[in-house]
Amino acid sequence: MHDRRSALRLAFGAAAALCPLCDAGGAKAAEKWSYDGDTGPQAWGKLAPEFQACSAGREQTPIDLKDGIRAEPGILSYAYKRMPVRILNNGHTIQVNCPAGSQAQIAGQTYDLLQYHFHHPSEHILSGQRFELELHLVHRSKAGELAVIGVFIRGGQANPTLQSIWQVMPAKASPEKWTSVSVNPDRLLPPNSTYFRYYGSLTTPPCSEGVLWTVYKQPIEASEAQLRQFAQIFANTSRPIQPLNRRFLLATG
Ligand SMILES: [Zn+2]
Repeated sequence: MHDRRSALRLAFGAAAALCPLCDAGGAKAAEKWSYDGDTGPQAWGKLAPEFQACSAGREQTPIDLKDGIRAEPGILSYAYKRMPVRILNNGHTIQVNCPAGSQAQIAGQTYDLLQYHFHHPSEHILSGQRFELELHLVHRSKAGELAVIGVFIRGGQANPTLQSIWQVMPAKASPEKWTSVSVNPDRLLPPNSTYFRYYGSLTTPPCSEGVLWTVYKQPIEASEAQLRQFAQIFANTSRPIQPLNRRFLLATG
């Protein structure tokens, strides 16, 4: 039996770990993991007691998005604001922290946008296809539940919003810096709003479950130069695909 309440407690406790440099207490364990070698994804579950879900969890992310069950999982809408870019390189990704005031309605519930960050290559795959980049917009409800919106990014036209972010992204690990650049992250959502929906986890330690995932089917585009610029900082920040196990994968459209 799935214990949703304990999953939610884990997710709430894990919120600080989404931003390892912001969490002085958890920094020791948070800094140890990596994407390859002895501290890579296969070892995450053994690196710290609080990382156990990375190996023992049965509702983990990412997954192969295919054969979803047709459904209408409720309202999905955004009220994001244009905001100054507060950006950091936390050693695992480029992350933009968001001030209070940007919200999303996901499955009829209100969530605040906390931060967004990127993975190269994409973590989810779409019917076996992997993309160059994946954007994760991380949200939290008043009750502490986490919801992440995923957007694939593929090679194509240059992306002006990404360009604004890329021009201030730190190549080396560094604390949050305030920049004079402003963007509205809703410009990073694809025009076609069909998506996959499932319950999963954080894709980095502590891999806490109870995270509501929404991943759009349509990728957005970035130029080859933009994709290369990110890959030069992070060669691989993608967790291997996890089994669906006894979960339902819903799909719209
Ligand atoms: Zn992520």
